[in-house]
Amino acid sequence: MPAKHARALCDYIDASPSAFHAVDASVALLKAHGAQGLDERDAWKLEPGSLYYVVRDDASLIAFRAGTKAPADSGFVMAGAHADAPALRVRWEKTVVARGFERAPVEAYGGPIHSTWLDRPLSMAGRVVVRDSSGRAQARLLNLAEPVAVIPNLAIHFNRDMNKGVEYPMQSALMPLVASRASDAPAGSWALARAARELGVKPEDILAAELSFVDAAPSCVWGNDGEFLSAPRIDNLEGCHAVLTAFLAADPADYTQVAVLFDNEEIGSTSQRGADSVFLRDILERISARLGAGQPEDIQRALARSFMVSVDGAQGWHPSYADRFDEDYAPVLNGGPAIKANANIRYATDALGEAAFRSACQAAGVPCQRFRMRADLMPGSTIGPISSAQLGVRTVDVGVPMLAMHSVRETAGAYDHDHMIAALREMYGRGA
Ligand code: ZN
Repeated sequence: MPAKHARALCDYIDASPSAFHAVDASVALLKAHGAQGLDERDAWKLEPGSLYYVVRDDASLIAFRAGTKAPADSGFVMAGAHADAPALRVRWEKTVVARGFERAPVEAYGGPIHSTWLDRPLSMAGRVVVRDSSGRAQARLLNLAEPVAVIPNLAIHFNRDMNKGVEYPMQSALMPLVASRASDAPAGSWALARAARELGVKPEDILAAELSFVDAAPSCVWGNDGEFLSAPRIDNLEGCHAVLTAFLAADPADYTQVAVLFDNEEIGSTSQRGADSVFLRDILERISARLGAGQPEDIQRALARSFMVSVDGAQGWHPSYADRFDEDYAPVLNGGPAIKANANIRYATDALGEAAFRSACQAAGVPCQRFRMRADLMPGSTIGPISSAQLGVRTVDVGVPMLAMHSVRETAGAYDHDHMIAALREMYGRGA
């Protein structure tokens, strides 16, 4: 039987080349379910049982279904994921020309596996700030959605040791080729001109931009029975899509259900809109104030009754690199979501959090696995420990296993996405 949600996930990933687009695609899904947008600058009026969402700075999003009881008496049940992914950020102001080759300089966003970005068609996407006809700055999303660049490798004849591993310096080797020109005379910025053409504005009306090169090839489902996914940004758009799908499918409750998409996890979460910001706390405080009796300790009472699931990709067992894993804590693709734990709280999971997620998986009839890094290696981290520390809320870190995490294209099990959605839906159906 084909995986139920795999195609929808591929469409979501392809519509989300950047965190800005992931938030945009998520808002479209929320609106289709009747959710109402809230502006942080307005005073809010909330109706118990209704769906709402708030976007901060175009790239982080919090959606919630207001509970029928005050949060101080019922708590928040939350699931969160990060919407950003490693990419090559374009230094859009600048173009480098040599012997007719025009190249666009880049810098790394997060920790991409450099070699995977070579010799493949790349597109460009992100946010552009344009001066409108009244002279005001206006943010516009840009998604070229077509191949516009390639980073060509060096021929093997110049480096016979190439297959022993190559370093690709970001400042030189990873500069995408974007055009061929008749002369080397300076001709302005390629990225600026391309963005202006796409948006139908004059280059001089573009005031600033946050643009990245991204894989241009669409996501796909593959395998004998469609059991695998090959896609860019599975870490962590799989998590975003699972959280949103489960949130939208959940039945209303007396507690308030919350779905969170954070930008900037790949660079440590410290930003105006990342997990290490006041965004989530701000919104929870406002919900608590609007749905409660307005007592000063309402928010603390609400948080003390709350629970959070932090969803982010897990490192799946890799048949070619078995020695990198502790076999007893190495989740396999299509074996179900993995609960991630670490003695040094690189993941937020504690025993009670693990027990809650494990019993939700059981109730939902989905398999569940464990991930722990080899005892002599340190894992990465997630939004889990950060949100947990910011809010003082018990949190469990979980994720679907994947291969080649941070490669330009990653591989995951198509059925695991269905399992994750079922487990999260069960979590949303339980009080904290
Ligand atoms: Zn991640």
